[in-house]
Amino acid sequence: MYGKYNRTAPLPSSDCRSVGHSEPQGRGLRNIHSTFLVRAARALERRWLPATCLVCRSDATGTLDLCDSCVACFPRIEWASGADNTACLGCGAVSAARHLRCDGAGRPWCLACRQRAPLFRRTVAPWRYAYPIDGMIGALKQQRQRAIGRSLGLLLAEELRRVAATDALQPLLPDLVMAVPDHPARRAERQFSPAEDIASTVAGALAVEHASGAAIRVGDAGSLARRSRAERALAIRGAFRVDDSVFRRHVAVVDDVLTTGATSGELARECLDAGAASVELWVLARTALDA
Ligand SMILES: [Zn+2]
Ligand SMILES: [Zn+2]
Repeated sequence: MYGKYNRTAPLPSSDCRSVGHSEPQGRGLRNIHSTFLVRAARALERRWLPATCLVCRSDATGTLDLCDSCVACFPRIEWASGADNTACLGCGAVSAARHLRCDGAGRPWCLACRQRAPLFRRTVAPWRYAYPIDGMIGALKQQRQRAIGRSLGLLLAEELRRVAATDALQPLLPDLVMAVPDHPARRAERQFSPAEDIASTVAGALAVEHASGAAIRVGDAGSLARRSRAERALAIRGAFRVDDSVFRRHVAVVDDVLTTGATSGELARECLDAGAASVELWVLARTALDA
C-alpha cells in the first residue's frame, strides 16, 4: 500500500469533481434514510459490487473507498530528512529542508521546536490541506460522508505503521488513542464526531485502545477561524477535561485538520497535567502555517 504514494500517474481533473457531492457512491440505495436499511444495503453492495472511489467514482481498490490513482495524487507531506515539503517532527509545520535540522536519528525539527520542546513527542500528518483532501474533509464534516473518515483513517494508520517502523528513537505506538472532542452542542448538531470516527478507525487498524470519552469539552470557544495563533490559544484555554485513564500512559490525540495546533495543544497540556507519560498528535492534514 505504501507504494501507492510513490506513483506519479496524474489524476484527471474532470474525474475529481464528485468530491463533496451528497451521493458520492451513487447506486440509488444510498438515499434510504433508515439506518438499518442503509447498513444492510451497503453490506450487500460491498459484498456483491465493487466499492466506488469517493473522489473519481471509478472502481475502488482493496478495502478503501478510493482508487490507487487518487491516493497517489494526494498532496503528501514528506517525513524524511533532506527533502523539501518536509514536516517538523514536533509540530508538523511544513518547511523547506533548509529550515529544518535533523537530530542524531535523522528526524527533522523546525527552529521553534528546537528552541522550545513541543508538547507532542511526535506529530504525524500525511497530507497538506489541499485538493482533494480539503474537499474530502469538508464532505466528511458537513455532509456526514462517514466513508471518507473510514478510508482516510485507514490510510493514516498505514502511515503511522511506517513512521513507527522508521523512527529509531520512538518506534512504539502509544497505549491509547483519543479524539479531540467536539463541544456537545456541535456534536448534537452533526450527530457524530468526525475526529472520533477517525480515531476509532485508526485505533482498530493498529490494535491500540480507543479511549472514547476519556476527554470531554467543557467550554465552547466558538469558531477559531480567522483568529490569530495567540487568539486561538487564549480562546481554547481550559476547554478540556481528561479522566485518569491517561495516567502514566502514552497517548495519541487524533484530529482531522491541524492549523495552528492551539486546540490539540491544549488537549495535550490537559493530558500531561493528568499524568500522561507522553502525547503525540495524529491528524489527516496540515494547513499552511499562516492559516
Ligand atoms: Zn479515484
Ligand atoms: Zn516544529
